[in-house]
Amino acid sequence: MNDTEHQSMVGRCDATNCRFNDDMECTAGQIEVQMSGQMAQCITYTPTDGMGESYGATADNR
Ligand code: SF4
Repeated sequence: MNDTEHQSMVGRCDATNCRFNDDMECTAGQIEVQMSGQMAQCITYTPTDGMGESYGATADNR
C-alpha cells in the first residue's frame, strides 16, 4: 500500500474543484489528511467557488 515511487505528497487528486487542484495534481505545499474509516479525506480541501466561507482570506472586507 505504501507504493510511492516518484510522487510528491499527493500524486493525484480528483477533487478538481479544490483550489489547490491543478490538472489533478495537488499544488498545496502541505496538506492534512484525515482517515475516516478506510477513506482518506483531505481536510485541506478548499473549493474554488464559495471562497470567502471558511478559508477566504480576501482583502476585500469592509
Ligand atoms: S488540497 Fe487536498 S483536495 Fe485539494 S488538491 Fe490537494 S489533496 Fe486534493
